[in-house]
Amino acid sequence: MAEQSVLEKAKKIFENFLLRQGSRKTPERFSVIDELYALPQDEHIDVEGLFLLMRNKGYTISRATIYNTLDLLVECGLAVKHQFKDKVALYEQALTYQHHDHHVCNQCRKIREFSDERINAIKETMGRELQSAITSHSLVLYGDCQIENCENLAIV
Ligand SMILES: [Zn+2]
Ligand SMILES: [Zn+2]
Repeated sequence: MAEQSVLEKAKKIFENFLLRQGSRKTPERFSVIDELYALPQDEHIDVEGLFLLMRNKGYTISRATIYNTLDLLVECGLAVKHQFKDKVALYEQALTYQHHDHHVCNQCRKIREFSDERINAIKETMGRELQSAITSHSLVLYGDCQIENCENLAIV
């Protein structure tokens, strides 16, 4: 059998999650996964952005449905929700996408991603010190880009 695509895996996980919850498997909910996972991996999108994108593609879906579905996706680990300073909640796909942290530019508001092994070392050390099995973390750096025309930076 052909290897399952990330999207198929995500849908399977969501299906099982809805079953366990006793929630309905509506096509609208699954179309939200389709569109979230069709975005580039490093894209962070808000409810309004996803709503407009889906409307433009001809979906009939309400903001409320998108909002609720995204929160369900967060609950079952398929999406991560970010609440950056001065920004509405942003979502990004989570399955197969490695954990990373964010830098938000105070000037242009652009979000850039980074990851640094030393953060894992801190998690291990602090976990031992606090006698806790650390499961996740969030780290956001806010700063003034020192790069001319920072808003035009290509995201790598
Ligand atoms: Zn990100
Ligand atoms: Zn900037």
